Amino acid sequence: MRADRSLILDAGAAHFLVDVSNVVRDRGLLPGPPALLERFDALVAGLAERDGEGAPLIYAVADDSLLSDRDLPRADRDRLAAWLDGGLLETRDVADDRLLQLADLTELPVITDDLYREYMRIYPWIPGSRDRFLEAFTPKGAPRLVRVRWRRMPVLADWEISRYEEERDIKDAGLRARVVREAGRRWLGRRWRCPEERCVFFGERRIGGGQPLPRFSRRGAFCPLHRAQLIDAGPAPARRTLKVRVDGTVVTRFTVTEGTPVVVGRAPGDDGIALKEWLDDAARARISRRHVEVEVTEAGVFVRDVSTNGTLVRGAGDSGEPRRLHRGESRALGKGHAAVLHDTVTLELSGRKYVFTAADDDRPGPVDPGREEATVLGEAAEASER
Ligand SMILES: [Zn+2]
Repeated sequence: MRADRSLILDAGAAHFLVDVSNVVRDRGLLPGPPALLERFDALVAGLAERDGEGAPLIYAVADDSLLSDRDLPRADRDRLAAWLDGGLLETRDVADDRLLQLADLTELPVITDDLYREYMRIYPWIPGSRDRFLEAFTPKGAPRLVRVRWRRMPVLADWEISRYEEERDIKDAGLRARVVREAGRRWLGRRWRCPEERCVFFGERRIGGGQPLPRFSRRGAFCPLHRAQLIDAGPAPARRTLKVRVDGTVVTRFTVTEGTPVVVGRAPGDDGIALKEWLDDAARARISRRHVEVEVTEAGVFVRDVSTNGTLVRGAGDSGEPRRLHRGESRALGKGHAAVLHDTVTLELSGRKYVFTAADDDRPGPVDPGREEATVLGEAAEASER
């Protein structure tokens, strides 16, 4: 599976933050050269296979150096460059700073095996956390697969942390993080414009919504690409992510912005969501080229039937009976509801939190309180050697 379709620089829609450099350079994942983009593809495939929820949406950040890393095959570097040009990947001189700022503001889980020792005082939620970081690993006996599991971050003594930081720097960074956190919650609800009109992050094309998170500092919001101060373009429009399920498995997700309805169907055209590739003959025969229109307003998400064979909305009626929409009729699609385009094809709201219930054995096990420190540090040492 190629990761391309899972990439989204939209903190409001993404499920995970991924340190791409860390995954790509992790030789414990898939055998091969020191750096390999296939490791990231395999990670996305692993996430997709967890519990029938399909490929999650990923906010990907990499070190600048990855794009020119000679250890990385030429084709991989070209792919990364295309993602950067397409506004699907963020790069920073130090990706860690950025990933942790994003994690701090959005509370999305981060996939990495980095320990972030030098950030533990800046972000006091790191030490000991059990549900903020995931690590990728290759299961024993399955060398071509990548899976993820929750990580328990170590709790380090002050002297251990201070080996990795300069006291003065840390005070500055801590203060900066606090200011950004306080202002950031407000900034998350804004949309931004880059003075560079053709900017793939904050240019005209993305002004309607679905922007990456600006880089925040005490002085304001900045374009991560152009380092220019961003212009506040007003409150961000409402956005919701929906998922398409075929035969029980989520095949794709898409995001709808207030004021810009999206048509879903067999082959709705450039601005729509085309389902053709996932449909069998029976479903292709029943689902119209343009089948249902999804609209987001302040009041919620609405589906309007525009098809020949009709659309059912399940779970929306008081009686629990599916409700058939007349052509042109619109109905709210709430949590737990499903718009049924065909027996096996449904449209549902995608919750902000990725369903991540499978494989309980991946969760950190119970900890013997007396041994916690030793166990955790032991694991930490192991992880840093990988
Ligand atoms: Zn820009």
